[in-house]
Order: sequence, then C-alpha cells, then structure tokens
Amino acid sequence: MTENMPEKNLNFETVWSDCLKIIKDNLNAQSFKTWFDPIKPVKLESKVLTIQVPSQFFYEWLEEHYIQLLQKTLKQIMGVGAKLEYNIIVENSTPSSAPYTINVPTGNGKKAATNELSLPLNITSKIKNPVIIPGLRKVPVDSQLNPKYHFDNFIEGECNRLARGAGWAVAHNPGGTAYNPLMIFGGVGLGKTHLIHAIGNMIKQINKNKTVIYLSAEKFINQYVESVKSNNQNDFISYYQSMDVLIVDDVQQFAKKERTQEIFFQIFNHLHQSNKQIILTSDKAPKDIKDVDERLLSRFKWGLSADLCIPDFETRIAILENKMYESGITLHRDVVEYMAHNIDTNVRELEGALISLLAQSSLNRKEIDLDLAKQMMKNFVKNATREISIEYIQKLVCDYYNVSVENVKSKTRKREIVQARQIAMYFAKDLTKASLKNIGTHFGNRDHSTVIHACQTVNDLMDTDKKFRHDVDELNKRIRINTY
Ligand code: ADP
Ligand code: MG
Repeated sequence: MTENMPEKNLNFETVWSDCLKIIKDNLNAQSFKTWFDPIKPVKLESKVLTIQVPSQFFYEWLEEHYIQLLQKTLKQIMGVGAKLEYNIIVENSTPSSAPYTINVPTGNGKKAATNELSLPLNITSKIKNPVIIPGLRKVPVDSQLNPKYHFDNFIEGECNRLARGAGWAVAHNPGGTAYNPLMIFGGVGLGKTHLIHAIGNMIKQINKNKTVIYLSAEKFINQYVESVKSNNQNDFISYYQSMDVLIVDDVQQFAKKERTQEIFFQIFNHLHQSNKQIILTSDKAPKDIKDVDERLLSRFKWGLSADLCIPDFETRIAILENKMYESGITLHRDVVEYMAHNIDTNVRELEGALISLLAQSSLNRKEIDLDLAKQMMKNFVKNATREISIEYIQKLVCDYYNVSVENVKSKTRKREIVQARQIAMYFAKDLTKASLKNIGTHFGNRDHSTVIHACQTVNDLMDTDKKFRHDVDELNKRIRINTY
C-alpha cells in the first residue's frame, strides 16, 4: 500500500487489515488483543474509513490512548486526508429495544463526539483529570487485598472483555476516568471478586501510597453495627471517607439495611466528590437490585456498569490451562477439553472439578486420563452426566452430518445445514437446562420462537420419516454416552 494507490482499489477490509499489521507492530500483544481484535471495519467512502466498536467506553478508550497511532496508520495506508469514523454499538436502557449504533466522526476529540450524539447514552463521556496528592497517613491501612488475584491470571475472553478493560483503565487512573463508580456484576463464580482484587493490587503496585481498601458489603454492615454499639460511627465514616479507593464486594447485600445504606450513601458522595475511586460488585445488574434506596441505586449507575458472563468453551480451556500452569501440572488435552465441555456453569465449578481430579488421582495413585476424568465427573460434579453443554451437542451433531459448527450458527438456509441446526436445537432443549433464549443465542443469536419451531419440526419428522428417526436415535445415544 502506498499513498499513490488509486482509491477505487481500496477495499475497507483490506485497508483495515493493512492498518492492523502496522498497529500490531506498535503495541504489545495484550493491548492489541483487547482493543483492536474486537473492532470491525464497516465501510470506506471518500477516504473515510468507518469502524465498528463494541461500546462507548471502548470508543473513548481508543480516542484517549490510540488516536495518534490510528491517525498515523491511516495516513500511511490511505494517504493524506484519511479520516476515521466510529459506529458505536449502544445498549439502550429500555429493555424492549435492540442495541443500535451511533456514528461518530473522529479527529476533534471527545467534545465533538458527544455533540454528535443525539441518542440517549448510558455512559457519560466526561473524563476528569484530578491531581491527586496522597496525604501522609499515620496508620497504615491494611488493604485486605488477596495477592493471589491479579490481572495476569484473570483470563480474558468475550465474557469479560469490557469489565476487564474498564478495570484495567481504573487501575491505571483511579478516580480519574469516567468509570466511577465501576460496577461489576454477574452470577456467582464468574470472577467478580477476582477482578476487583486484581484492580486493587494493580493500584497498589503502581502507587503504594494510595490507600485502597477491599471489603464485602456484609463486613461493612457488621462493622457499622459494631460502630453504633460502641458509639463511634463518626470514626467509622471518616475512616472510609479517607480512602483513595474503596472496593465493596456484593453490594446486593445492602438490601433492606436502610441505616447502612444511608451511611454508605454519605461515604459514597464524599469519595465521589473528591474524585476518589469506588469499585463495586453485585450479583445482579443495578436496575435489578431489590430493596436498595433509589438514590443509592442511581449512584451505582453513574459510572460504568460492566457484566461478567459465562466464559465460552475456548476461554474455559484457557482458564483450566492457566490453573494447571499455576499448580505445575500437565493434563492431556482430551481431559481438559472434556472438563471444559461438561462444565459450563461457572469458573468456580470448573476449578472445583480440576481440584477433585487431582485429589482423585493422588488418592488412588492413578494417572489422570480421560477415564478417570469421566469417573470423577460422575462422582464429584452434581449432575455431571446430565450436564451436557450446548457446544458439545453442536459438535457431535455437526460431526455426524459432516457440516461445520460455524455454518450451523450462520444465516445459511442450505437444507443439510438447516437440518443439523434444528436437530442440535432439539437436543439442546431436550438434554440441557438452557432456556430457549439461551439456546437461540448459541445458534447465531436466533430468537426463542426459532428454537420452538425447530423442536416441533424434529418431532414431526421423527413421526413421519424412518431414516430421520434413526439418525436422531443414533445421535441421542452418542450424546448421552457422553464420550468425547
Ligand atoms: P465471583 O466473585 O463472581 O463469585 P470469583 O471471583 O470468586 O467469582 O471467582 C471464582 C473462581 O474462579 C476464582 O478462583 C477465580 O480465580 C476464578 N476465575 C473466575 N474468572 C476467571 C478468569 N477469567 N480467569 C481465571 N480465573 C477466573
Ligand atoms: Mg465474589
């Protein structure tokens, strides 16, 4: 690519992939993966390249950190006058409406970008840059941070990209980003506690003078009750108000504790006004937290709320591999895949299975192989034999019909693909506990009515078509045997 290249030969995909080559050379692998892998090129018109980014936060991050690199790269690939526009995928706050994209031209910084936005955004793009001078404190604060949890061993995947990225940003500039508070939410065992410890540890690592404190909402409640008993609430309040970074885990536990909520509200306001960082977690999205005062809830939504969800198969494998690496053990790939296939509930259970497997092996002095893994899964993991994953079903069905899983998830209406897709949906409904919606999501984001229709079609065909019935029976056997 040179500056003289005629524009009609430029295709947005090749232009973007050429840009990526340059960008890759200028960044470390981690940053590249986090910030450039998720970008999709959309179009190229009169030297304006449009790229799609997953969120407002993402866009701001690029503008803040990589705009020069992007501008230089675009110029190098497309010549003088090259411009960049963003499509930002924005989740509307009303549940009925689907995500939509907004278009933001770049080059004039964030101000221009926000002016362009006529659609409601959930995230403010104001970035504060306070000068923080840490005061000398007489009593060193015990952060209560667990040193075992850090960013390096928090494996990144689609399931946690936003939360991890936001956490990383906050860790490098606590109180100085728009993500205040940073609220991480998601179901049990998905890594909330790990991530917030990682943020706290990173803040301390960068600046050991920053006062960081981690505690669970439950501990906060108990300490408050104690302080009332011993009549030193004011000390309690000023202690937490003196922190640079306050990390509170599982704030859904504030439910129904009105007095504690009031005190927390006071502390929150004080810290927020002084540009101190607040990091919270909850097992549900802020809008779904019950029995917490509206004023407090609305503050939880001020900064950035990012969710953690169940890691996909590849990420589960990466997590297991990392755990094995940390514990200095190696397992056969088929054992690791077997576990990753069969445990798709949460990371804690995945780790539990690995530990059980190690225990079994040392107790029985048996080598860990696939047989032992299968045996262990039966004994140790609840409903292991019934916990067949949708990915596993997809793989077996696709192998059987000799089609690719990718195709089954795509929009293709080819007959043999449609059939494999419908049969896999049928088994997903029959053999897993997944909801229709969740099943649809696993099949290229189809909706629940498509899944219902697939199940009906399979049932009808089984009644009328002998060969079809035979295929389904055979597959049923293969899936239930649970071999991999
Ligand atoms: P939560 O607080 O959401 O219930 P935890 O943070 O306690 O979950 O995580 C449960 C276990 O799973 C921890 O041992 C944690 O280290 C591990 N874990 C969760 N997510 C990841 C990840 N992305 N990479 C590595 N380990 C993870
Ligand atoms: Mg936790």
